[in-house]
Amino acid sequence: MSQAFLPFALPEIGQEEIDEVVDTLRSGWVTTGPKTRRFEQAFAEFLGDPQIECIAVNSATAGLHLALEAIGIGPGDEVITTTHTFTATAEVVRYLGADVVLVDIDPSTMNIDPRLVEAAITPRTKAILPVHYAGLAVDMLAILDIARRHGLRVVEDAAHALPTTLEKELIGTMGSDATVFSFYANKTMTTGEGGMLVTRNAELAKRAKVMRLHGINRDAFDRFTAKVPSWYYEIVAPGFKYNLTDIAAALGLHQLKRIPAFQVRREQIAQRYLEAFADLPLVMPPQAVEGDTHSWHLFVLRLDDSLEMERDAFIEQMFARGIGCSVHYIPLHLQPYWRDRYGLKPEQFPHSQKAYERMLSIPLYTAMSDADVERVITAVREIVLAP
Ligand SMILES: *Cc1c(COP(=O)(O)O)cnc(C)c1O
Repeated sequence: MSQAFLPFALPEIGQEEIDEVVDTLRSGWVTTGPKTRRFEQAFAEFLGDPQIECIAVNSATAGLHLALEAIGIGPGDEVITTTHTFTATAEVVRYLGADVVLVDIDPSTMNIDPRLVEAAITPRTKAILPVHYAGLAVDMLAILDIARRHGLRVVEDAAHALPTTLEKELIGTMGSDATVFSFYANKTMTTGEGGMLVTRNAELAKRAKVMRLHGINRDAFDRFTAKVPSWYYEIVAPGFKYNLTDIAAALGLHQLKRIPAFQVRREQIAQRYLEAFADLPLVMPPQAVEGDTHSWHLFVLRLDDSLEMERDAFIEQMFARGIGCSVHYIPLHLQPYWRDRYGLKPEQFPHSQKAYERMLSIPLYTAMSDADVERVITAVREIVLAP
């Protein structure tokens, strides 16, 4: 008898989330309103830093775009990021007419290699855009040091990195210009679609808030507050439509509360996989150092060279056993748009290329039962040992 298909990812939505959404629908306030404000405050409290401003947006892509816009990225500028990421990380640079400079990963962390970042700096470089791949922190001390020495800005793509830590500090509080989290359906918490831009820079926050909603500036009439009627506003720029709805924030309020419990479960599953695969010709994903947290958004296996099987065949065998798998990511240097625009060749990115050819992501999410986890383990072991 064949078992039901085990999807690669599923969100875990509880009764509290459902009740809060229903309450929002009944309240009559379905777009950005009091719950979005509460969600932003709760996020700042979660990060534990009263200096931090949290700006809710309708995707991480929107948040990254707003952050780069606010630091003044524009035509002629270059932004350095990793080839080993989702296209959203890089596309926002192109929205602003600036150029993307892709660099390779460090194969031991799968994260952007700080030495290659430094080597890629030119007089046009304005910012570094590191991605905490799979939920393991980038060496931010190295990145921030390079930025300081070269006068560059830093915006972190933390789509995978809630609640990742580095030197016991949560990502989002490391001291970059801005950090952006994603609440897309398969991330460590979800609002359906959504994101959070986090910054300690008051000017950046002010600009991002204006640009989040059509370039409307309400501070413009602060000095007249008493006299200005409620219908009055000023447009100070051609802004965007990037606000989060209260329906989404209703989900976020409860998902955020569950992040510590979600993290415990993700860590449990990751540890079970690490132990169950230790004797196989598989390269295990890098782990956080003792005392730090890996969010385990993704669990990425790499087939060892000693294993003759191709990665594609491995994934097919997983599907044949009713288990969804994925690949994170097809590196940007292989994607037609990025490859052709910048004339990129796989030889420029040997580590990302090698990882891509041999890797797959297996299911790891809180809605998995222990039996689901054991089923994945059995499938992987069978495929490796008796292909
Ligand atoms: C998911 C993801 C994004 C985009 O997040 P959205 O909220 O879907 O816009 C950006 N970067 C990385 C690395 C991602 O995984």
